[in-house]
Amino acid sequence: MTKRVFLKLLILLLVVIGVSTTALDLLVRRNWEHSLLTQLNQDLRDKAQMFAARVEHEVGIIPFQQLAKEEGAAARARATIIDRSGKVLADSEANASEMENHATRPEFVAALNGHVGADTRTSHTLGIEFVYVAAPTSFGAVRLAYPLASVRADISKIEKELLEASAVAFLVGLAVALVGAESISRRLGRMVAFAQEIAAGNLAARLPESGTDEISQLAMTLDKTARQLETNFHNLANSRQQLETLLNSMDDAVVAVSPKQEVAWFNGAMKPLAAGKLAFGTPLIRAVRDPDLLRVVAEVLEKRTVKSATLYSVSPGRIFGVTSAPLPDGGVVCVLRDSTEIARVERTRRDFIANVSHELRTPLTSLLGYTETLMDESADSKAREFLEIIRRNAQRMSRLTEDLLTLARVESGEERLQQVSVSANELLRDAQVSFSELATGKGLAIEIAESPEATVFADRDAIHQVFANLVDNALKYASGTKKIEIGATERFGNLEFYVRDFGQGIPSEHLPRLFERFYRVDKARSREAGGTGLGLAIVKHIVLNHGGQAGVSSQLGHGSVFWFRLSISEVNAEVAGEAAMKRG
Ligand code: ADP
Repeated sequence: MTKRVFLKLLILLLVVIGVSTTALDLLVRRNWEHSLLTQLNQDLRDKAQMFAARVEHEVGIIPFQQLAKEEGAAARARATIIDRSGKVLADSEANASEMENHATRPEFVAALNGHVGADTRTSHTLGIEFVYVAAPTSFGAVRLAYPLASVRADISKIEKELLEASAVAFLVGLAVALVGAESISRRLGRMVAFAQEIAAGNLAARLPESGTDEISQLAMTLDKTARQLETNFHNLANSRQQLETLLNSMDDAVVAVSPKQEVAWFNGAMKPLAAGKLAFGTPLIRAVRDPDLLRVVAEVLEKRTVKSATLYSVSPGRIFGVTSAPLPDGGVVCVLRDSTEIARVERTRRDFIANVSHELRTPLTSLLGYTETLMDESADSKAREFLEIIRRNAQRMSRLTEDLLTLARVESGEERLQQVSVSANELLRDAQVSFSELATGKGLAIEIAESPEATVFADRDAIHQVFANLVDNALKYASGTKKIEIGATERFGNLEFYVRDFGQGIPSEHLPRLFERFYRVDKARSREAGGTGLGLAIVKHIVLNHGGQAGVSSQLGHGSVFWFRLSISEVNAEVAGEAAMKRG
């Protein structure tokens, strides 16, 4: 490459020198020739006029032949004296009587007209090229002729000198061009080598240059860029190392997956969890044999949102929680946390509560039975009053144990949901029919506000339980009003069921915690109304088990809306499609 630059530069410089010397040659030669001829012309005119004046003055005193000879010698030209008819009277170099008539010579014609005439042509007499200049006299004209050959000899001498000077200039230029091209191509060559080193990854390469021209400035800028690149690279390598150390010291397993679902990075904790050999570029499906993890990764790749799941088959007998998040490069990072111990403790807690509730069931039933029998048989009003208190509390405890059992059951998720495609209308009607008697007893009516033609994939009994808890709350906390509205509406591709009452509503600060177990806005009122504080927690878990969401919105003095969203089932899409076709 350096050779090519050198050659190009050299050729360019040679062309420049060649063109400029040729142009100079041409210009100088032309100018020179032109000015020589002009000067010669002017000189001959002056001399011809002086010749004419002398002839006029000396006519009859000195013979024409002598005059011609003297003037010819003085002017170093051929001198001729011609009469009006064109006849040559005397000539400094030829015999006048033998010469042709000059009447038609252009310079002579001009002189006869009173001007100084000039012409350049080959002489008939001598056969060489002359510059002729004729000046008028009273009897005709005088003429001077100068051979052009001597002017041409002068010009070719000058030409030769010019050529010699040009050749010297060319040689000097060539030497300078050689040195210049060599220096530039050497400097460019250094830069190319430097750039190749940087490209090959050697960021420690340097390009020392200290001049002030553009090439030096380019070299210095490249050098500065390389330094900057090296510093940035070191910083990057340091932070990468820190991050790797940090991730490797974590108990959680981390694996990054490329958009092609191949392992892009993993930490130390991930290695024991891999089914096969874990290496960069291994397809995730071969590295980790857990369908839920693969599903979560595929979902995050598609939707670009954070997703979580519980993994049961990553490692035998262990449970992992995974959180997957999208990476800026289009991939996904998964953090796997071993939650076996937490799950075990949680299960122990749930089992304990379920067992206690279960164990309390029988004694409570017998307590209630005996209390009611005693009440029937007792005549003492004080004793009846105490027995009533015992009965009420036993009933509360019984409700509490039932709710605790239900909560433990739905929380564990162990009980499989019997999910089927069921229409919104059916679920709402079922709720209306089931609870209308209870509502009427409290002076309230249950109305279906809206019921779209949509289907959800749900466990009827579980959803019945959800409606039971929500309607029960509405009846408890909105007593004194006239109606409760239930309904469903399509929202964000889901079906949102709701139970709306027109009671006192709930202060906004309580809303975020309302679905927590045992959370009550007004404990005394809840207890008085027979509440356990577990109804909404049960609702939340049943809805979560369906993959849905539950929530509340409320306005003080205007009432509350408790809602839960279930995703619309595919059967519904078909039904909706058919319905739309029928409508259309
Ligand atoms: P409880 O058995 O006490 O009703 P829940 O979990 O069903 O327990 O409800 C939690 C609390 O939410 C209740 O104690 C009550 O304060 C409030 N709440 C629930 N539903 C309503 C409603 N429809 N109107 C007003 N407050 C309500």
